[in-house]
Amino acid sequence: MDTVVSGIRPTGNLHLGNYFGAVRAFTQMQNEYNCFFFIADWHSLTTHPHPDNIIRSTNTILAEYLACGIDPEKATIYIQSDVREVVELYLYLNMNAYLGELERTTSFKEKARQQPNNVNAGLLTYPTLMAADILMHKAVKVPVGKDQEQNMEMARKFARRFNTIYGVDFFVEPQSYALGDRALKVPGLDGSGKMGKSEGNAIYLIDDAKTITKKVMRAVTDAGPTEPNSPRPEPITNLFTLMEIVSSPEVYKHFSDSYNDCSIRYGDMKKQLAEDICSFSAPIRERILELNSDEAYLRQVAKLGAEKARESASKTLEEVRQIIGFRHR
Ligand code: ATP
Repeated sequence: MDTVVSGIRPTGNLHLGNYFGAVRAFTQMQNEYNCFFFIADWHSLTTHPHPDNIIRSTNTILAEYLACGIDPEKATIYIQSDVREVVELYLYLNMNAYLGELERTTSFKEKARQQPNNVNAGLLTYPTLMAADILMHKAVKVPVGKDQEQNMEMARKFARRFNTIYGVDFFVEPQSYALGDRALKVPGLDGSGKMGKSEGNAIYLIDDAKTITKKVMRAVTDAGPTEPNSPRPEPITNLFTLMEIVSSPEVYKHFSDSYNDCSIRYGDMKKQLAEDICSFSAPIRERILELNSDEAYLRQVAKLGAEKARESASKTLEEVRQIIGFRHR
């Protein structure tokens, strides 16, 4: 059975982008593959979070994973920092990762721009830590959103390079996986760009109906089309993209047709979109609230996941050590 790995950083609550870009695929893949889904708490250290926030956010993502339908009986759900073997593989991969290629990654350049006073080595080596997470379990498929394509290319490069340097056929090159074969980029509703925890434009799975409605009604629009079948400016395309993801095909077609014949009323479209987001997320929200208050269960899930993940990780690491030339002492 092929192995699948993916993770999300505990930098806030899960939003629609995380769900439709990644977590929805997790819930389907757990039925067919040997799945490892983790909470990437080491990755979150690049922004120097307060210790209390790490603990809180890690529990939040754990509860939200479960509320979305990831089943600890089917998939291994673990917290990255519980599997220390990952750090050792990260070190080995860093020895074969070059400054120039790390500096050239778009995500590094973006983060360096966002936090100019904290351009730390962890930001630079984010792709090697991500590769360690994936290669640790010899994953073949990695369900991630479109924003991770370059990091996935790096993971493949590090796998190939390790195999070439040591003359082995050890690491498999992992492939990105998207439901329906199309990586999604869920847009924010602030006019441009993707929905993101750090972008301040996210609709969260935990948001209640009032909050969702308020966020959607505030979405950036324009004065409306003046000619039939005119091209859609980015903010309008984004509204339609979200509707295509969340609403029924009939609803999407209705508003798309009314845009094309210039009869669209954005207020009606937003109202419908808000309703559809609410009906999708209300049951998940309810489960999150239930799970948030069950700390004992969350602890039990994390403990079981850590044991299973370490078993897989230590097996890979033992082999890596032998390949590199470290022997048992
Ligand atoms: P941050 O804003 O803190 O960087 P994020 O909201 O972008 O966080 P990540 O933890 O970086 O979320 O990503 C977790 C997963 O969710 C990844 O697989 C990523 O591809 C996916 N993802 C995040 N945002 C989107 C989005 N807007 N559309 C599609 N997928 C997304």
